[in-house]
Amino acid sequence: MLNKTKYYLLFSDNYIIIINRVYPAINMVQEFSCKAAGAPDCPFMVRDENTDELVNIVQRHASKFHNEALDKADVLKNTKQV
Ligand SMILES: [Zn+2]
Repeated sequence: MLNKTKYYLLFSDNYIIIINRVYPAINMVQEFSCKAAGAPDCPFMVRDENTDELVNIVQRHASKFHNEALDKADVLKNTKQV
């Protein structure tokens, strides 16, 4: 059970996305949330082991819901390891 690969994808552009492919997580998981990035009224949060994938998801959310074009550095600046 412990080493089973699990895949959680709660997919939504405007809410919470958590992608954990392996449980327990052996890789560092990155977290980005709009609250931490300075948009306190937005509930969007994403956790992912894959940095590029996380950046893509955040960029899509930012452009759709905040009308902002973020580059990868902007996203990573507000991303932390959890
Ligand atoms: Zn947001």
